[in-house]
Amino acid sequence: MTTRMPTLFIGHGNPMNAIQDTAWSRAWSALGRQLPKPGLVLSVSAHWYLPGTAVTAMARPRTIHDFGGFPRELFEVQYPARGNPVFVRRLRELLAPVPVRADVSWGLDHGSWSVLRHVFPDADVPVVQLSIDETQAPAFHHDLGKRLAPLRDEGVLILGSGNVVHNLHAYAWGRHPAQPFDWAVRFETAVRNLIVQRDVQPLVDYASLGPDAELSIPTPEHYLPLLYVLGASHEDDAVGFPTDGTDGGSISMLSVRLG
Ligand code: ZN
Repeated sequence: MTTRMPTLFIGHGNPMNAIQDTAWSRAWSALGRQLPKPGLVLSVSAHWYLPGTAVTAMARPRTIHDFGGFPRELFEVQYPARGNPVFVRRLRELLAPVPVRADVSWGLDHGSWSVLRHVFPDADVPVVQLSIDETQAPAFHHDLGKRLAPLRDEGVLILGSGNVVHNLHAYAWGRHPAQPFDWAVRFETAVRNLIVQRDVQPLVDYASLGPDAELSIPTPEHYLPLLYVLGASHEDDAVGFPTDGTDGGSISMLSVRLG
């Protein structure tokens, strides 16, 4: 019998967390020591946001350094986890009739590896990324998450990597830690409370949450991975928040563990 895997949303924040010893990167390492070892990580990263649902289908996904203006050390990071070229078949079964494209050009972007190099530092768990279809409404992403839920009983760790609050216009570059904006703190708290209360619908219809949501989610790509994780959750999952707090005033580092 395979243990049911938890499902995780991680607030990844600044890519420098990949190489820096921060409260968040330390918590990610601790999480890796606590988690049951998965057979595969299915990562839904904010940084693979394009039309259509695609899945990485290469045996050796490359490490993508999808950012600019960071130190060379960050560009030198490699995360040599294997992929799984046949996993796309299982995803197609689960997500049908949504077409799932087998992709051989992407790889692992920093939404995945900046976190995973702390969680599974030996890169010994295969990783497959699932894209976020930018043409679809939030309810679609929540629904895909529901359809992925059976994977948790097949040894798959469903990982959403983004940020519940992600406003780079307001971000205090080079001045950490900055005082968090009131709206950022309020929105992170609201999201947390709704998750604890299992009141998922307002989180799917996040635009209904008012001006704090508008400022926290100026573009949806960092928020949507949370909807996959919420979709994949079960009523009886324990709820935990392995990390929280605000970076640079306007990025919430809230992480959510379900199960
Ligand atoms: Zn990001």
